[in-house]
Amino acid sequence: MDFGLDPEDELFRQEVRAFLDRELPADWLGMSVSWAGYGAASGELEGPVRQTFYKKLIKRGWPTMAWPKAYGGQDASFTHQYVYNEEMAYRGAPESGGIAVTYVGPAIMVHGSEEHKKKFLGGIVRGEISFAQGFSEPGAGSDLASVTTRAVRDGYDYIINGQKTFTSGAHLADYIWLLARTNADVPKHKGLSMFVFPMKTPGVTSRPFLNICDVLSFNDVYFDNVRVPQDALVGEEDKGWYQAMTGLDFERSGVARFAGCRRAMELLVRYMKETKWNGRYLAEDPLARERVAETAVDIEVGRLMALRIISMQTRRMSVSNASSVSKLYGSELSQRLARLGADVMGPFGTLTRRSKWAPLSGFFELAYRNSVSATLGAGTSEIQRNILAQRGLGLPR
Ligand SMILES: Cc1cc2nc3c(=O)[nH]c(=O)nc-3n(C[C@H](O)[C@H](O)[C@H](O)COP(=O)(O)OP(=O)(O)OC[C@H]3O[C@@H](n4cnc5c(N)ncnc54)[C@H](O)[C@@H]3O)c2cc1C
Repeated sequence: MDFGLDPEDELFRQEVRAFLDRELPADWLGMSVSWAGYGAASGELEGPVRQTFYKKLIKRGWPTMAWPKAYGGQDASFTHQYVYNEEMAYRGAPESGGIAVTYVGPAIMVHGSEEHKKKFLGGIVRGEISFAQGFSEPGAGSDLASVTTRAVRDGYDYIINGQKTFTSGAHLADYIWLLARTNADVPKHKGLSMFVFPMKTPGVTSRPFLNICDVLSFNDVYFDNVRVPQDALVGEEDKGWYQAMTGLDFERSGVARFAGCRRAMELLVRYMKETKWNGRYLAEDPLARERVAETAVDIEVGRLMALRIISMQTRRMSVSNASSVSKLYGSELSQRLARLGADVMGPFGTLTRRSKWAPLSGFFELAYRNSVSATLGAGTSEIQRNILAQRGLGLPR
C-alpha cells in the first residue's frame, strides 16, 4: 500500500511551508494558544497577527479552496486540503475562517436561498464576515435536540426568546447561526429551525466569559424579544435538525490533531535532550523515554488513520465512522501528550508563559489546560463512543 501523495500535492506542500516560514513571526510558539489542531480561541497576543495572516491566506484563496468554483472556491481535492491542514496545524498557524468556512458557507450553499447566497458567500470568501454558532444551551449540549430557545412567527417576522451558551467568539462575530425551536408539538428534533441574523439585532446580548486558557472566548448569548424578518430563516421551517447534520464533503481525517501532536512531540524530545534534571539529561530517564516512545507510536497510528480516511474520501466512501474514530482517538491522544509534556517538565511544567522560567515558553502548561476542550467540543468522547457503538458496531441505543 502506497501512502505517498501525488507530486502535485507535494509541490503544494512546499508552497504552504514557504508561506508559513515567511509569514509566521519567529516567536510564534510563545504567542499562539492553539493546541494540536484545536484553537480554543485567539488570545490577545495572537489577535493582531491572526488578522494580518488571515488576509494573506484570503489572497491565496486557501481557506475556501475546497468550495466549488461557482461559489468562489477552487474545487480543491481532499489531498490538497489534507496537505494544507497538516502543514498549518504542524506549525500551530492561526486557524483559518472558522465555522464561516467549514460550516455556515457550505450550509448556505445547500439550504440557503439565492438571497442568502448573494448576501453571505462572497463575504466569507473575502474574509469580511464572521459567524458564531448558537446551538448549545444550558440544558442542551450533548442532547442538542432539547433546544428550548423559541422562534415564534409574528406576521412576516419571527420573535426569538431564549439563551445560548458556550457560544465561541459571539462577542466578536457579525452574525449568529442559530438553532431555535419553532414547533413544540412534534418529536423534539422535528420542531427545530435554523436562523441567521446580525449579532447587532436589538434584543441580542452577549456576555463573554473566560475559557480555561484565560482567553475571552465563550459567551452566554441572550435573546430578549428579538425580532427578525422571515428571510432570517434558512431553508424550511422545522427542518433545522437535518440542516445541522449536513454539510459539504470536506476533508475529515482529523489530520490537524495528529500533525499538531507530531510537532509537540518533536519539541518535547528536543527539550529532553537539552535539559538536565538531578545531574542527567531527561532523555536518559527510563520512565520518560518509555512514555515518550509509546506516545510517538500513538501519533504515528493517528497519522496513518488520517491517511486512510483521505484515501476513503478520495474513493467517495462514507467516512462517518472512521472520522468519529479519528476524533475520539486524536482528542484523547492530544490530552495524553499534553499531560506527558507537563509530567516530564516536573514542577517547571506548571509555569505559565508569563514566567521567564517556563520551558518552551509555557507551551505544555497551556497545552495541558487547552487540551481539556478536545474531548468536549464537536461532540464529547462519550457521545463519540455512543455513535460508534450504535452505528459502527450495531449495538442497541
Ligand atoms: C472549546 C469549545 C467550544 C465550543 N463552542 C461552541 C459554540 O461555538 N457553539 C455552541 O453552540 N456550542 C459550543 N460548545 C459547546 C459544546 O458543543 C458542548 O460543550 C458539548 O456539546 C457538550 O455539551 P455540554 O457541555 O452541555 O455537556 P453535557 O451534554 O451536559 O454533558 C456532560 C457530560 O455528560 C456526558 N454525557 C451526556 N450525554 C451522554 C450520554 N447520552 N451518554 C454518555 N455520556 C453522556 C458528556 O459526555 C459529558 O461528559 C463548545 C465547547 C467547547 C469545549
